[in-house]
Amino acid sequence: MSQLKEIHAQTLRSTSTQHPHTLFLHTRILHFSSSHDLDYAFRLFTQIEYPNSFVWNTLIQACALYAAANRWNEVGLLRKMMTDKGVRKEPGCSSIEIDGVDHEFFAGDTSHSQTKDIYQLLDVIEDRLGSIGYCPDVSQAPMVDETIDGKQQSLRLHSERLAIAFGLLNLKPGVPIRVLKNLRVCDDCHNVTKLISKMYNVDIIVRDRARFHHFRDGSCSCMDYW
Ligand SMILES: [Zn+2]
Ligand SMILES: [Zn+2]
Repeated sequence: MSQLKEIHAQTLRSTSTQHPHTLFLHTRILHFSSSHDLDYAFRLFTQIEYPNSFVWNTLIQACALYAAANRWNEVGLLRKMMTDKGVRKEPGCSSIEIDGVDHEFFAGDTSHSQTKDIYQLLDVIEDRLGSIGYCPDVSQAPMVDETIDGKQQSLRLHSERLAIAFGLLNLKPGVPIRVLKNLRVCDDCHNVTKLISKMYNVDIIVRDRARFHHFRDGSCSCMDYW
C-alpha cells in the first residue's frame, strides 16, 4: 500500500497542476483524504509546489475534515501553509500582433523594449482623461493595494492598457488595434478604452475571456454588457 501511495504522490508532484488529469487526481486525493488516510493526504498537500486555486479549495475542505476529526495541529499547519505560499492567481496577459510579430504584456510589465515609450504614453493618456473629467473606478483594482493611489496605479497597469498603448505607438493612424486578453476586461479598462477610441479616433477590438468588444468613437459594441 505505501508503495502505491509513493507512486501516486510522485505522479501528483510531477504533473502540471493545470492539467485536467491532475485535477482528476486532486479530486481523488480529496476523496482519499476524507475516507481513508488524513496523514497521507496532508503529506501530499505539503509537497505540491505550485498549488492552483483548485488545490487550495481542496485544502480548505481538508481543513474542515481535520477540524471535524479534532486534528487541530494539522488545521493550523495547513492554514499557515496557505498563507506562506499564497494563492497563485492567473496573471492578466494581453497580446497584440504588429507586422506578424506577437507582443505579450503582463499586468505592470516592464520587460518590453518600448517600455519607456509605453508608460510615457499612458501618462499622456491619463492626463488627457483627467482633463475631460474621467475618474478611475478603483473598485476592481486588486485589493492588495490599500491606498487609492496604489489602486489607481494598478488599474493603469492592466495588461490591455499596455498593449493598447503599444498599438497606438506602432500602428499607422486609422489601423484598428486588435488585442487578445486572457481575463475579463474590468469596468475601468472598458471605460478607458472607450475614451481612447474617441480621443485617438481609432477602432480598438479586444477579445477577452468573455467576448469581443469593438470600441469606436467612445462606445463599445457590447453596449456595456459583458
Ligand atoms: Zn482593467
Ligand atoms: Zn465592451
